[in-house]
Amino acid sequence: MSSFDHRRQFASDNNAGCCPEVLAALRDSSPGHLVAYGSDAITAKAKDAFRELFETDCETYFVFNGTAANSLAIGSFCSRHHSVLCHRHSHVESDECNAPGFLNQGLRIVTVEGAEGKIDLGNFQEALRGRRDIHSSQPRVVSLTNTTELGTLYRPNEIAELADLARSHALAVHVDGARFANAVASAGCTPAELSWKAGVDVLVFGGTKNGLAFGEAVVFFNNQDSSDFVYRMKQSGQLASKMRFLAAQWLGLLSDGKWLAYARHANAMAEKLYSQLSQIQTVKILFPREGNAVFAKLPEPVVAGLYEVGWRFYSDVGPGGGARLMCSWDTTEADVDQFVADVRGVA
Ligand SMILES: *Cc1c(COP(=O)(O)O)cnc(C)c1O
Repeated sequence: MSSFDHRRQFASDNNAGCCPEVLAALRDSSPGHLVAYGSDAITAKAKDAFRELFETDCETYFVFNGTAANSLAIGSFCSRHHSVLCHRHSHVESDECNAPGFLNQGLRIVTVEGAEGKIDLGNFQEALRGRRDIHSSQPRVVSLTNTTELGTLYRPNEIAELADLARSHALAVHVDGARFANAVASAGCTPAELSWKAGVDVLVFGGTKNGLAFGEAVVFFNNQDSSDFVYRMKQSGQLASKMRFLAAQWLGLLSDGKWLAYARHANAMAEKLYSQLSQIQTVKILFPREGNAVFAKLPEPVVAGLYEVGWRFYSDVGPGGGARLMCSWDTTEADVDQFVADVRGVA
């Protein structure tokens, strides 16, 4: 046991530590000297692992975090007069402190509505019908979050519908996949089916919430799109000199399908939490449980009581102002049982 053995919480899947396979991969990749900035054999191997996983000749880049990954991926399609369309409840819109516009000078974010965190096809069509003359920004990218900020899932056919419309208006399709692994686990399809086969041009595959210590992978499915990506990484401070350690973590996570096993586990724990909370009368579930999140409206005294006994979670997230409870790769059944028992205890 470490001297920092903190209690597990449902606050966020980025509160969890890093999984043993990733720690082992870091240890394995440490001895000796390797060339810096990604021209090393470990990084090449990790890029190949993504080609294998996605069953296509994709080009993958490893960056430190999701905000930069999204901003740089979107920006790689955009000029200064362009806009990116995304859901109102998306990380790009509400959790990136204007980074997309800061890192891509002039870029505008335009929000689109839709139920349960998903862009509605009709609303998307409406947004594209807007002004396209020289005086307005030109839509260039549509950004989807999968699983969404409200814990719901876009299935391959839903992505394909949006992507078809995007393509007919010359828009590129970006997916913020901070929880892409949870989305694949939930959709029960292949990573390819949930990305390029459905029309996705660039995917940010989240590692941090899937078991890495840190790091996200930016996966381009059309190689021409990414030719100048390394310059964007460098300018924004996202080009790791010891790239091998970002890359090696992925080798640990992708080997033996660990990424998917962990995501399935997190989703299963969320399902258990969801079904148990649904049985408590004072608890109101807010959105369908399709990933590793449960959104639930808990009475104010219950929230206070849970805090009193040491639980930490965000208690006012998204429409409906409910609690957001996130399960992680390391959440246990006992964690869920204890949380639910405490909800009952203070309810
Ligand atoms: C966590 C998260 C990210 C990544 O954010 P960083 O803190 O910048 O790594 C991106 N998108 C979504 C939907 C997230 O939940």
